[in-house]
Amino acid sequence: MKLAERILNGEDLTKAEFLQIYENHNIDTLDLLNEAYQLRKHYYGKKVKLNMILNAKSGICPENCGYCGQSRDMKEKERYRLVDKDQIMSGAKVAHEHHIGTYCIVMSGRGPSDKEVDHISHTVKAIKENHPQLKICACLGLTNEEQAKKLKQAGVDRYNHNINTSERYHDTVVTTHTYKDRTDTIEIMKNNNISPCSGVIFGMGETNQDVIDMAFALKEIDADSIPINFLHPIKGTKFGNMNELTPMKCLRLVALFRLVNPSKEIRIAGGREVNLRALQPLALKAANSIFVGDYLITGGQPNKLDYEMIEDLGFEVDFQTDDNDSYEQTSEI
Ligand code: SF4
Repeated sequence: MKLAERILNGEDLTKAEFLQIYENHNIDTLDLLNEAYQLRKHYYGKKVKLNMILNAKSGICPENCGYCGQSRDMKEKERYRLVDKDQIMSGAKVAHEHHIGTYCIVMSGRGPSDKEVDHISHTVKAIKENHPQLKICACLGLTNEEQAKKLKQAGVDRYNHNINTSERYHDTVVTTHTYKDRTDTIEIMKNNNISPCSGVIFGMGETNQDVIDMAFALKEIDADSIPINFLHPIKGTKFGNMNELTPMKCLRLVALFRLVNPSKEIRIAGGREVNLRALQPLALKAANSIFVGDYLITGGQPNKLDYEMIEDLGFEVDFQTDDNDSYEQTSEI
């Protein structure tokens, strides 16, 4: 197969070639994972980047994303407005204490108001004074140029806005905004020198061609960071009864994404515990990044298990520190 070697030698494989590889079940998933591992090792060695999410505003969303427990159709879920500065700051302190590289401040909703952007910006400035090495990722929804400028000035390093699915399948997933709305926000961030983070959710009924299209869309966007979510079906949502992922299928997807986007930070994100189950560590052969702690409205596994998984694999946390504190392996996030 020698896929990794060909890719490292600069060969550009086409969509058709990747589709053929992905669909060919004579190509064993573990062999594909080994090819992905060669690329992961080439660019990241055995380092694992850690990310932590703060759900800074929950529910109260007018959008109808079919996978989301915070959509307008899910009235019974927990709802609260944007949390205060102290709460966001204390999350940053927890992140620092656990040697998390990137702290992700996430807001529900179509997009932030100017007032909300001001609040986040003031808070990020204060976080950067206390923890200059902590990267800040904002995930606030659809934004405009002015808002992006303010976030950049405040010290926001990265902005997450997922494409979620392929352009073709987008309108099956959500109808209250377009695929282009999403890619426009990513472009605005890039224009303002904010590192683009954009990823996908698998298991919503997408075809194999959609999978390849998503991987290539992110390659074209040149997303620095690619979170791969596996649908964790939430009762009452449009995709609440979906059940099309298996642990091996998840591994094949992560391997494929590494092969198409060899040098990027690829994160196994929401739904990893319930979909990969006991095979989670194998996914780190292709991915080099995880979330530690809970997701937005679904729980993650205890963080002690994440640190153990990394250590048991012989991998190590990717964290630059200018002091001698050691991360807390046991205290809960
Ligand atoms: S994903 Fe975001 S925009 Fe979509 S329904 Fe959920 S909170 Fe709203």
